[in-house]
Amino acid sequence: MEYCAPETLAEVCAALSNADGPVRVLAGGTDLLARFASGMPRPSMLVDIKKLAPARVIRQLPDGSFEIGAACPGIHIRADKLLGKYWPGLSEAMDLIGSVQIQGRATLGGNLCNASPAADAVPALIAARAHCRIVSVAGQREVPVEEVIISPGRTCLRQDEFIVSFILPARASRSADAYLRMTPRTEMDIAIAGVAVNLTLDDSGVITDSHVALGAVGPVPVFAVAASRILLGSSLDEEVLQRFRRQVSVMCRPISDKRSTAEYRTDVTAVLAARAARIAYDRAAADIAS
Ligand SMILES: Cc1cc2nc3c(=O)[nH]c(=O)nc-3n(C[C@H](O)[C@H](O)[C@H](O)COP(=O)(O)OP(=O)(O)OC[C@H]3O[C@@H](n4cnc5c(N)ncnc54)[C@H](O)[C@@H]3O)c2cc1C
Repeated sequence: MEYCAPETLAEVCAALSNADGPVRVLAGGTDLLARFASGMPRPSMLVDIKKLAPARVIRQLPDGSFEIGAACPGIHIRADKLLGKYWPGLSEAMDLIGSVQIQGRATLGGNLCNASPAADAVPALIAARAHCRIVSVAGQREVPVEEVIISPGRTCLRQDEFIVSFILPARASRSADAYLRMTPRTEMDIAIAGVAVNLTLDDSGVITDSHVALGAVGPVPVFAVAASRILLGSSLDEEVLQRFRRQVSVMCRPISDKRSTAEYRTDVTAVLAARAARIAYDRAAADIAS
């Protein structure tokens, strides 16, 4: 394999489009190198994007939205206090990935582009209504995160494209997110269920906006729109939570494997969804109290 580590957008785009044979983006390498080790065919060219400054930024833009570079490692994302204040659910999702050592390498872009149904940061990005900025020699396009993964291990990106950054929309006041997951072991395991909930309340505590995403219960992460709608207009009373749990269960299409049965995944997802909704609600309501 040939390797290059360009430092400008134009150089990354040129390296991806001029390669003679198969080419792959390399970010933290925590998925890619493990796949090479287990027999995945190697490309003729690896394009390392970690030296690309626009892919390493975490910044709040003047309109209140956040831009997070696709090559930002988890350790930088969870250490960013301003981002954690606005998007605690995304911070806690990144904080759950692997270990401190893995988080020193593992990036947000790699978590999405590995296209695992169980990736922890992806439900949090979907619930946040994040878009990714996809760049190539042909120009730039913005795609909602939920449209990127098309099947396990496959994304909508062409070989000459890469994600430079993610845009999280400006936050309304009284809004917050939360992410919870379940793993069979307490450390270094992959989620058998993951749920992200992102809520906005009015000043009397009624939910006016709601987005829910589920991980590890289908071939791709699930943007659970029908479940999100159940929370609208409520203050998360028990009757609404029960209907919400039932709808989440209906939206789960998990497999049974060595980590869990499909039935257990479905039950746990519904329980986590109700808990994550409660956490997001209480975080958003704290805004009313303060
Ligand atoms: C021990 C261990 C524990 C782990 N635990 C977890 C866990 O708890 N939760 C979890 O979700 N994951 C976990 N993972 C998986 C992995 O760490 C994450 O998915 C990580 O976020 C991948 O990021 P990366 O930068 O290392 O990606 P890489 O390995 O560099 O890349 C992954 C894939 O994405 C592509 N890619 C990367 N960046 C871009 C980009 N910007 N544009 C286009 N394509 C791109 C690469 O070409 C490759 O196909 C674990 C891995 C290990 C080894």
